Amino acid sequence: MRKNDNVKMLSGKDRGKTGKISVVLPARPTGGPDAGKVVVEGLNLIKRHVRARKQGQKGQIVSKERAVSVSSVALVCKSCGKPTRVGYKIEGENKVRVCKKCKGEI
Ligand SMILES: [Zn+2]
Repeated sequence: MRKNDNVKMLSGKDRGKTGKISVVLPARPTGGPDAGKVVVEGLNLIKRHVRARKQGQKGQIVSKERAVSVSSVALVCKSCGKPTRVGYKIEGENKVRVCKKCKGEI
């Protein structure tokens, strides 16, 4: 998956919602909790309470996206608008991604 891909959430509280990938976290050989995950804009939010630092200031609750595993999102095809699996085809020297459902380019 790539940045700016549209995806549909397959699990969690935002299941069924779609959003755009804003960050792709690289898979590292050593692993780590977020390796190989993606961040989807506006989805899978976690709330964090931020305490007031100064007297008289208010504490706040801020929402932040939490990375999700690529297995819990499906790529949404630009041509047919359906969540789909990605296939590849070779076009000249390039490898292009195609939708397994409508065969359109993604
Ligand atoms: Zn399609």
